Amino acid sequence: MRIVLLGPPGAGKGTFAEQASKTLGLPHISTGDLFRAAIKNETDLGKKVKDILAQGLLVPDDLTIGLVRQRLAEPDAQAGWILDGFPRTIPQAEALQEISPVEMVINLEVDDALILQRLTGRRICRNCGRIYHIVSMPPKKDGVCDVCGGELYTRPDDQESAIKTRLAAYREQTEPLVAWYDEKKLLVPLRGSGTPESVYSAFEKILQNRG
Ligand code: ADP
Ligand code: ZN
Repeated sequence: MRIVLLGPPGAGKGTFAEQASKTLGLPHISTGDLFRAAIKNETDLGKKVKDILAQGLLVPDDLTIGLVRQRLAEPDAQAGWILDGFPRTIPQAEALQEISPVEMVINLEVDDALILQRLTGRRICRNCGRIYHIVSMPPKKDGVCDVCGGELYTRPDDQESAIKTRLAAYREQTEPLVAWYDEKKLLVPLRGSGTPESVYSAFEKILQNRG
């Protein structure tokens, strides 16, 4: 199955995608993770996008589409995928239709107050990328990943000023995709405000009802 996750920053796309990837046996492809890996490895792409990410702006479409085109050509992506953070603009969505059309678009809905609370408390493992929250999903030991012992850090774009920029980018450039996909009868709304388990089990019910 080819699934796209839509929703504002902090909607829980990454957490949901990790769970869906395990349960459905599909690769979790996050453009944010791919950009952060490029930055960490100081590749040409990484150098181009570093400041853009730190500010919370969107990477230009040509760079983003090229990256996704390459990733979707890999062997593990042939049986399907869960795309997290792509597409984020109409031109990206049009490009995806041409590369490999999506079958289901899950729109994770949460309101702004919860977004801010989630993003400012978010911590990420530098080593394996696992996502924590200092209040709702704390690690067993402060600052240390439960899974791999890696160091937890706050993403530079989880500072309040960058969060505002990201939300504005979402409203202006990404939210129009909700209507775009709805018109194509691909959109599945899902409330993202509960615990990760409750959000995921609501999704499993939707899958069952579709048969
Ligand atoms: P979140 O959904 O929490 O905002 P992501 O990890 O998905 O964060 O993305 C982090 C940053 O990576 C974005 O703010 C943007 O700069 C860049 N990025 C990720 N995906 C895209 C995309 N499809 N188009 C443009 N920029 C992107
Ligand atoms: Zn880890």
